[in-house]
Amino acid sequence: MASEPLLSVRGLRKSYGAHEVLRSVSFNLDRGERVAIIGPSGSGKSTCLRAINYLEPPIGGEIRLNGELIGRRAGRRGGDRRMTDAELAPQRAQIGMVFQLFHLWPHLTVRENVALQPHKVQGLSAAEAFERADAMLAKVHLLNKSDDYPSRLSGGQQQRVAIARALAQAPALLLFDEPTSALDPELVGEVLTVIQELAAEGRSMLLVTHEIAFAREVADRVIFMDGGVIVEEGPARAVLDDPREPRLRRFLQLVA
Ligand code: ADP
Ligand code: MG
Repeated sequence: MASEPLLSVRGLRKSYGAHEVLRSVSFNLDRGERVAIIGPSGSGKSTCLRAINYLEPPIGGEIRLNGELIGRRAGRRGGDRRMTDAELAPQRAQIGMVFQLFHLWPHLTVRENVALQPHKVQGLSAAEAFERADAMLAKVHLLNKSDDYPSRLSGGQQQRVAIARALAQAPALLLFDEPTSALDPELVGEVLTVIQELAAEGRSMLLVTHEIAFAREVADRVIFMDGGVIVEEGPARAVLDDPREPRLRRFLQLVA
């Protein structure tokens, strides 16, 4: 169905003990759309991203990618049940995730880090996986580092490798969780440039960021979360330049 969103999140809920971290979060993301999530620390942004690919299984709500229910399938006795990690793997491959900390394998070279998932999960031969890794490393302008170990790279370079690794899955959707917040200020720009280039390719992405100027530039839509709910959302410029909600106004004054 052409009108169906790429990603549909409906009534997403998550608690840690008595603490409700996501209180019925709903939004859509269309194919080719770039959506930025902003909000204060602790508002549930990371949990929301991690719930989308079931790294943090939600306790309620529904996530669909291309119409397919993520993380759950019909149980034998009616109702539905949570998928096993093996069942989830092909769905997770559709969703490339880039974390605040890069989580590269220290004992693998840059090329091996990027080739690992295509080889182990997607079943590419080692040669095919290396070829794909090199193509993705070229995209993030790091082909010349492919034989190095991550420890030899700067934080900005390591994050670009992590982006190449996410791209190597050939995902339908990219999730970024504050991809520049662990970086020294002088390394932020090179990572934002790569994300900007991916946006220009028309990739679908959901990006949690504190870089408000970047969100204004790259996002079609902005979602402002606070206290586990979406407080305001809309076109990036409307939300960022002319916020309606007092909580969002205060937040923007603090981070600007
Ligand atoms: P954000 O990314 O917006 O800063 P998070 O999604 O990381 O917010 O966290 C939302 C809330 O959930 C916070 O209060 C945080 O302390 C809590 N939280 C996150 N992960 C866990 C966890 N694994 N166990 C308990 N509480 C958690
Ligand atoms: Mg977070």
